[in-house]
Amino acid sequence: MMRRKNGNKHYFTGMGTRKKVHAFVRVKPTDDFAHEMIKYGDDNKSIDIHLKKDLQRGVVNNKQTDWSFKLDGVLHNASQDLVYETVAKDLVAQALDGYNGTIMCYGQTGAGKTYTMTGATENYKHRGILPRALQQVFRMIEERPTHAITVRVSYLEIYNESLFDLLSTLPYVGPSVTPMTIVENPQGVFIKGLSVHLTNQEEDAFSLLFEGETNRIIASHTMNKNSSRSHCIFTIYVEAHSRTLSDEKYVTSKINLVDLAGSERLGKSGSEGRMLKEATYINKSLSFLEQAIIALGDQKRDHIPFRQSKLTHALKDSLGGNCNMVLLTNIYGEAAQLEETLSSLRFASRMKLVTTEPAINEKYDAERMVKNLEKELALLKQELAIHDSLANRTFVNYDPMDEIQIAEINSQVRRYLEGTLDEIDIINLRQIQEVFNQFRVVLSQQEQEVESTLRRKYTLIDKNDFAAISAVQKAGLMDVEGHLVGEPDGQSFGLGVTPFSTKPGKKPKSKKMFKEQLGSLGRKEGAGSPVSGKDLEVSISKTQATPSSKEGDVKDLPLRDRETSSSEPLPLDSPKEEWRPPRPSTPPPKPVAFEDFKNERGSEINRIFKENKSILNERRKRASETTQRINAIKQEMDLTKEALNFQKSIREKQGEYENKGLMIIDEEEFLLILKLKDLKKQYRAEYQDLRDLRAEIQYCQHLVDQCRHRLLTEFDIWYNESFFIPDDMQVSLKPGSSIRPGMVPVSRLVSLGEDDQDKFNQLQQRVLPEGPDSISFYNAKVKTEQKRNYLKTMMGLQQAHRK
Ligand code: ADP
Ligand code: MG
Repeated sequence: MMRRKNGNKHYFTGMGTRKKVHAFVRVKPTDDFAHEMIKYGDDNKSIDIHLKKDLQRGVVNNKQTDWSFKLDGVLHNASQDLVYETVAKDLVAQALDGYNGTIMCYGQTGAGKTYTMTGATENYKHRGILPRALQQVFRMIEERPTHAITVRVSYLEIYNESLFDLLSTLPYVGPSVTPMTIVENPQGVFIKGLSVHLTNQEEDAFSLLFEGETNRIIASHTMNKNSSRSHCIFTIYVEAHSRTLSDEKYVTSKINLVDLAGSERLGKSGSEGRMLKEATYINKSLSFLEQAIIALGDQKRDHIPFRQSKLTHALKDSLGGNCNMVLLTNIYGEAAQLEETLSSLRFASRMKLVTTEPAINEKYDAERMVKNLEKELALLKQELAIHDSLANRTFVNYDPMDEIQIAEINSQVRRYLEGTLDEIDIINLRQIQEVFNQFRVVLSQQEQEVESTLRRKYTLIDKNDFAAISAVQKAGLMDVEGHLVGEPDGQSFGLGVTPFSTKPGKKPKSKKMFKEQLGSLGRKEGAGSPVSGKDLEVSISKTQATPSSKEGDVKDLPLRDRETSSSEPLPLDSPKEEWRPPRPSTPPPKPVAFEDFKNERGSEINRIFKENKSILNERRKRASETTQRINAIKQEMDLTKEALNFQKSIREKQGEYENKGLMIIDEEEFLLILKLKDLKKQYRAEYQDLRDLRAEIQYCQHLVDQCRHRLLTEFDIWYNESFFIPDDMQVSLKPGSSIRPGMVPVSRLVSLGEDDQDKFNQLQQRVLPEGPDSISFYNAKVKTEQKRNYLKTMMGLQQAHRK
């Protein structure tokens, strides 16, 4: 079974059996039949030609005098009826099953092509293939009530490579007014501008056929054209939809009945002008037809030269290849025409060798398909509703999400990544997909931020400034690859250059981290990260205690020291108290300048930063100790449970299970129960502590990040103002101004040096899922508490700010 594409049309060759082009010969009846020269084989499938010696001279160029042609049938003195039965009947029948078919009459003018194809229109008995095919189609439709079958017809004439519509409803005026073009699309080839007529019954079809024939004759007069020089294609279009199956598949087919132009070699006899033009066109289009059909039969050929002529182009999806094809060659039986007869027979035998692979044209009815899918969808939804109500999941909604729901998921994902949300509840597949989607969105946003930060920062450090680079390396700020790193001890900082780079033993908050977070998605974890009001006060009061700090809120850390030590003339717009070092010709390396900055203008921020950092470290230590304690308690609990189970099993074996409705247990078991109860209590208490600590850590972390951010931002401003920016431009670079060279978003700095936090997160994941209460109860409780604590924190912050 082969699959082959003809044009843009898709076929499947499920029923594909290789076939050959059927080639028949019809001999025109004559009283002067050349019995001695033309002989038929016994099976009526071959024809032998013998040339007499005296005819040989001047007629045939070579010395050959005998030819034998093998064909599919020779029709001699055959009635129109027999011709139809032999040539067309099967092909037409198969068209209703979706196979395209083409019947062509080939031969010398006057040999009987039109008689064979159309027949005598005035005599029913002598009607040709065309009216008979229409009759057969309508008869078959009647026999197939299971299918809704439509029939359409068109009649095209090709004359000197121009297209004419023989069924045009407009008065016939020629091709310049209604130009037609051959168009190809995925459904196949069609002729734009050619009228296609729906015919509901045989009679309508006949009327159209006769109208076409009349037009053909009229046109040949008015246009002064020789009808034997034109190709006529009558096409029957069939489309069959099943009535019984609600199947969206349907089949289409075309039957092309082609009355070709005369095949005689006109060019030879010294034609001129119009005659020459006609001759050239005919000979060319017939030889292109042959080339195309031969190419179609050649499995190795990829390119089929359809576009060489209008005839082959118009028949593109109905020639050779994957459709049924019949070639009927009309010949004279007279000796005088033997030369053309020989030529026609050669053409026929060449065609006979061509193989085709007929295939059904199956198409999909989009409308019906949508209807079927809708039905199925409704059914599945019902099914799901039943399932959900059985599984007690009646709240689940399966409809597509709206913008608000998606925004909610985005916020969940952000909170999850920040660590303020411990789990994202899984509801259904659609929601899971959206969660992943939003992870991607958030991640790519973060990556963009990093990139733009990197770009900005790198422009500040001249890569060729070896002195600066070596100073940076000395200060331990650069890793092996030359990336700058932040230091976690709070003594000195990276310059915010590369949040994704790592120091040995340090864990980057990068894609890897993201994956780990993804991995823990949906895992049951412990408490969230509420901020307790008590601990908040600690950090705030510390901030308040700093003498130079005027306001309690960290957000309002002093922006500038009130020192004035420079004797340099200050720029006009610069505040008086602004300290600035004397501007050297080459700026000092950043790490060196940073040390200066921390001792001078940045000292206050640095101090606050260090304090917060030490609080943070202390809390972390406590959290880790608490975690260890919880682990120990848990172990103890497990051991106690085991011992208790052991006791119980012994008791059960001894049959002391029940005595007059009273449970009797020995002292050992009783003590174990008490112990377990106590342990559970401890566990809960420690667990509560851990949750509080974690909240506190998170809050401290936030303060540390803010301080660091402030420190770096201030440093950058100071550095650029001091060493890079002309004094007269500095007005736009004041604190609070939107243009801040080298500003680093907080989100980037958060990722610097927080390995402890990661370790802590991991620890929690290990410890907490074993909560003694039921998971859902627990989760709900935690969430409520989170909310309450969050509100408390916010209120605390506001109060502190007001103070
Ligand atoms: P073509 O279309 O090949 O030029 P036609 O079909 O017009 O040839 O035939 C030329 C003439 O011969 C017509 O008058 C036609 O009626 C007649 N003729 C052709 N074939 C037959 C046939 N098999 N039986 C009777 N008459 C025929
Ligand atoms: Mg004709």
